[in-house]
Amino acid sequence: MPGISGARARVVVLGGGFGGLETAFDLRLLAGKRALITLVSDQDHFLFKPNSIYVPFGLDPARLRVPLARPAARRGIELVGARAHEIDADARKVIVAGRQIPYDFLVVATGSGMRAEEVPGLAEHAISTWTPQDMLGLRDAFEGLVAASRRGARRRVLFLVPPNNKCAGPLYEIVLMLETWLRRMKAREGAEIVWSTYEDTYIQAFGPRLHQVVEDEFERRGIEGHHGHVVERVEPDSVAYGNGALLEYDLLVAFPPYVASTAFAGLSADDRGFLATELASRRVVGHPEIFAVGDAGDFPVKQAFLAFLQADAAAAHIAAEIAGTEPETAFDPVSMCVMEQFDKATFAQVPLRLTGDPSRPVEVRPDADGDYRVGSSKAWRAGKKMLGMSVPWRFRHGQPFHGGAFWRAMEAGLGAMSGLLARPVAKVGADEAAR
Ligand SMILES: Cc1cc2nc3c(=O)[nH]c(=O)nc-3n(C[C@H](O)[C@H](O)[C@H](O)COP(=O)(O)OP(=O)(O)OC[C@H]3O[C@@H](n4cnc5c(N)ncnc54)[C@H](O)[C@@H]3O)c2cc1C
Repeated sequence: MPGISGARARVVVLGGGFGGLETAFDLRLLAGKRALITLVSDQDHFLFKPNSIYVPFGLDPARLRVPLARPAARRGIELVGARAHEIDADARKVIVAGRQIPYDFLVVATGSGMRAEEVPGLAEHAISTWTPQDMLGLRDAFEGLVAASRRGARRRVLFLVPPNNKCAGPLYEIVLMLETWLRRMKAREGAEIVWSTYEDTYIQAFGPRLHQVVEDEFERRGIEGHHGHVVERVEPDSVAYGNGALLEYDLLVAFPPYVASTAFAGLSADDRGFLATELASRRVVGHPEIFAVGDAGDFPVKQAFLAFLQADAAAAHIAAEIAGTEPETAFDPVSMCVMEQFDKATFAQVPLRLTGDPSRPVEVRPDADGDYRVGSSKAWRAGKKMLGMSVPWRFRHGQPFHGGAFWRAMEAGLGAMSGLLARPVAKVGADEAAR
């Protein structure tokens, strides 16, 4: 590869979330002063969304925010506080609030948005779990359940995952957390908890072991669970499904369908605006100088952990091109997550592969063997806490989460914990057949 000689390469990153910050900070480590980095963000802070699941149970949303100005200045990154409207790929410019910003490499990390309107009645009748503001609304509703229970009333809470939601995990966390919390508040008797999802199995993308964990938890906690329930419409007090079922509710909590937060005309994308990418490099199809990382790209599972892996791959490819070398990192979709339940947590490490089937776009790799690990334990709550502290701490200091000695130590810690506390699943097929 020839590399970029003389002038510094102009790299523009759109979006100050997981994917954007990880790319910008990692690229600064890998390319040093050879990259002139501009970060365009419509928010003046990074939002640590995963911990917004604690807001309905009392966490102050202000604790989820990391202001961007200091870490950007610390790494010599120009911060442009505005929304990017348009990409002129031929002229290699981004249009931002009337200003044109030229680039040699562009990274689109603008994340996703919600489109509740595509399910009739959903926006009107359900509380969503997308923004911290939504989570404050949920807090009021959950406090209402406790108050009603103390008056001797009984309420039916229905959780709903509609098709095209690309990250149902947090809603599974909230239903299990709510059950534990209500018991602790001595208000469990007053709430009937019901779950419904369009998925054929619970947390379908993460395979049979996660399904089993959820099924066992629902049974143990007296939660009525329904999978394979595709919502058709939401009425003021019931939800109608394609299979003819009708579930009533007093309180409806839903995680709506996903779309791209910003649709960039002229770039290849799917029908939801997610940019078409080459899997390993995160290059946007047809534009070798444009990369899409995190929720903005077309990888079917939207997760912060996967956004990190994609950002690392994009940064490695850009740095290699600047230096005229070969990239050392490619995107390998091995998901990792810790699901909170308050009385314990569940860890999952899931090697994924694309299937090409739109109805089931990813699956656990059939040859995953011992790399597919799932385990539940009280100790995993400490793992969740550690992740919740370390990501904002790294970003506050302008460091990539997956950078250098820090991540090696973290990975070793998680590896040791999962060796002790998570069961490797030897044969995915055998496990599936056993169900
Ligand atoms: C409640 C909840 C809990 C979750 N829990 C987990 C979890 O436990 N583990 C996990 O791995 N994932 C979790 N996720 C998913 C995770 O938060 C997302 O996958 C992750 O945020 C994606 O990162 P991103 O950088 O692509 O997008 P984001 O983090 O959403 O960042 C995108 C950024 O771009 C900005 N932006 C958007 N449009 C523009 C524009 N046109 N111009 C400039 N800036 C723009 C946005 O304001 C935002 O700051 C959770 C999500 C939610 C909602």
